[in-house]
Amino acid sequence: MKVLIGIEIHVHLLTKAKLFCSCSTDYEGKEPNNLVCPICLGFPGSKPKVNKKAIDFGILAAKALNCKINPEIFFSRKSYFYPDMPKNFQISQYEIPLAVGGYLEILGKKIRIRRIHLEEDPARLVHVGGDITSATHVLADYNRAGIPLLEIVTEPDFTSTKEVREFLSKLSSILEHLEIFDPSKEAGLRVDANISLEGGERAEIKNITGFANVEKALNYEIIRQKNLRRIGKKVERETRHFDAETRSTHTLRKKEFEEDYGYIFEPDLTKIEISQSWIKSLKMPELPDKRVERFVKQYKIPKQQASVIVYIDKALADFFEDCSKIYKNYKQLAKWIVTDLLKCLNWNKITIRESRVKPKSFVELLKLIDKGKITERLAKEIIKEYVPTGKSPEQIVKEKKLVTIKGKKELEKVVLAVIKENKKAVDDLKAGRKKALEFLVGHVLKKTRKTADPKVVRELIEKLTK
Ligand SMILES: [Zn+2]
Repeated sequence: MKVLIGIEIHVHLLTKAKLFCSCSTDYEGKEPNNLVCPICLGFPGSKPKVNKKAIDFGILAAKALNCKINPEIFFSRKSYFYPDMPKNFQISQYEIPLAVGGYLEILGKKIRIRRIHLEEDPARLVHVGGDITSATHVLADYNRAGIPLLEIVTEPDFTSTKEVREFLSKLSSILEHLEIFDPSKEAGLRVDANISLEGGERAEIKNITGFANVEKALNYEIIRQKNLRRIGKKVERETRHFDAETRSTHTLRKKEFEEDYGYIFEPDLTKIEISQSWIKSLKMPELPDKRVERFVKQYKIPKQQASVIVYIDKALADFFEDCSKIYKNYKQLAKWIVTDLLKCLNWNKITIRESRVKPKSFVELLKLIDKGKITERLAKEIIKEYVPTGKSPEQIVKEKKLVTIKGKKELEKVVLAVIKENKKAVDDLKAGRKKALEFLVGHVLKKTRKTADPKVVRELIEKLTK
């Protein structure tokens, strides 16, 4: 059964002021309902005024996503009744959005982008005593109301949750490179997903935050729909809510159609002309695809590794480049970042930005390996303690009294001794019997109390028995 998924992504734009007033957008950790004014509280008679910066940011995103930007745009009122929007409508774009018809390529496949538009974020609702379906009452914080949101709508081109995850990761990295979005902000990126099985109705899951949750919500929903079909029941068109704790989705309301919102033009705002000279005046920074190409060329690292580093997030790509200034073995650097460093970050459920990993200490670890002071195997152990604590790797080695081979010369002596003591195995090896090599490696490891790197030992034996 083919799965079809389309997503809508809501991104908080990094403007200093809100979309239609001059209130600050820096609401995290602030006293609720302090960053407000008559406009973002929707008082009668208050007049919105468009923040040009938000449109600049929207244009940059549209260009980066290969969209066609409409030469004239306007805003509309989307009517609905809900406490997160006291004026009972949200100023959004409907008839003519900022941009249409773009795409983003992931895993060699083009995901089409239907439209990109700007709208104001509603207030933050805090559900007390339960979640949205079970809370005893709800608190509203209007500090968030009016923050510019960029809504990016894709066509239902995804056929797996993996594709969705790749897309979100790359999109987030692009927006970060454009410096219009901060992924470390809570609720900075929210996703609505439409899911259907081929030939069936679609269900929409609203307001999922966090990439991992998107994947969980989609996986749950796919199984739910497949099970319904298996027992001969129909999937109903409806809006569902994802509960991150139970990792399941629940009916929120029967799906309303876009027309039900009764859109009308916003009479308090005039139409906005977006001229070619306006578009051209906005400087495009280096975007992830170009940065991957440059990494391959400049640092001579494999494209697959460069892609992982750049598409995961901008901070990781910046980390790689910061390390490259003080450590010149780029291949080794890239390898350790995409394998053990990422593994440890994921294990600790943190990003590089949230971690205490710094270029200086990370490079210190790599240099310990290069100097032969620790083996790669030991480094893999050290990194497990280093990532969550940020403690100097040298310090960890000292504290744990980790015995290491002192240098390549010393290791060579041990290898030579083993070769001398095992004439028969050496002859076997020369005769092409691969098992003999492992036998010799085993002896060296035994002598070095497993502190030597088997890979290095293997190479040494091969070199010294030639
Ligand atoms: Zn305001």
